[in-house]
Order: sequence, then structure tokens, then C-alpha cells
Amino acid sequence: MIKSKYLENLIDALTILPGIGRKSAQRMAFELLNSNPEKSLHLSKELTNIDSKISKCKICGLFMDIEEVEQQTNESCHVCERQNRDTSIICIVGSASDVYVIDESTSYNGYYFVLQGNLSPIDGKGPAEIGLDRLDKRLTNKNIKELILATSSTIEGEATAHYIKNIASEKGINVSRLAFGLPINGEIGFLDNETISHAFNERKII
Ligand SMILES: [Zn+2]
Repeated sequence: MIKSKYLENLIDALTILPGIGRKSAQRMAFELLNSNPEKSLHLSKELTNIDSKISKCKICGLFMDIEEVEQQTNESCHVCERQNRDTSIICIVGSASDVYVIDESTSYNGYYFVLQGNLSPIDGKGPAEIGLDRLDKRLTNKNIKELILATSSTIEGEATAHYIKNIASEKGINVSRLAFGLPINGEIGFLDNETISHAFNERKII
């Protein structure tokens, strides 16, 4: 081995990031080693804060500052606490980062629920593991009229959407799903067959 043991450990640690393979992790590690030590110290401090300063909202699963929890009597985030939101709609997403994307790019003003991934029995991810038991409880306790499914269009995402639809239907709640189709400014000739097929099936009268 020509590398330092600690350098190897750093490279291994960096590969846990999505989309980062060994080569990219190695480049990042060398970049950190060659940069001003203050930069890596700053990064390490922010990484430590993940566990000590950030928590999850007990209602929707969105990330929030632990300080925020300490200042309140309940443990919900500023989105769940905001009074002017439409309490009858919940948008269900597969990841907390999707909440920010939807909030910034739409005029949606209801509540959110963040799943901990999608159903995947082969990986040991059943309904309770991804938070569907909490969702079930939330739908029973509140006056919810519509669920918007903003989960991904993968096989697991579709299976998860189907499961949620069944829970909601039992309670008489309407379920809508984000439309799949042509991207804005996209040209039909450049799209894959599945996207075109979805777009065709989801067409609407104009
Ligand atoms: Zn919340």
C-alpha cells in the first residue's frame, strides 16, 4: 500500500455519498489534503453538526434545527406549524430534498410527508421502515381530503404509490399523482419510448 491508512479511510468514507465512486472520492480526498486546512476543518465541523444540530420533524419528516425544537413545546417543523397552509392536502415525497424543489417551483400550499425511501421487500424495507405507519395514523387523525403522490416513477416508487393509494382509499381520501410526460422545451424525437407512452396516456383536453 502506498497511501496513508488515514487517507484510505477518508476515501472510503467519501464513497458513501451518492454518485461518488472510488476515483471521484480519491480526487476529493486529495483536493481536501491540498487545500487550506481551514476548509477541511470547516467541512468536518458541518458534518459533525448533522447529528448534533439537525433533527427530523415528527409529523412530516422534514429536517429542522434541534434549536427550533427546543424553543417550542411540540416537535414539529415550521412548515407543519405554519397557520396559513391548506390543512386538507398532503404532498408525499420520497426524499426531504424534494420538498424544497416543490416549494420553490410551485404554488403548492398544503402540507408534506417525507417517506424514508420506497417499499423494497428485498432490501428489508416494508411499510413501517419507510414511515407508512406514521402516514396511516396522520390520515386517521386529520381532516385530509387529498393526497398528492410526488414519488418517483421507478418500479419501487410505483409500488409505494399503489400501497399509499390503498391506505387513502380505505379512508375515502382522494389521491392524485404528478403527471409524467414531455419536459418543458423538450422535443419528442429525443425522448425515450416509456416517457412518450406516459405522456400519450396522460394527455388532456386543451
Ligand atoms: Zn413538519
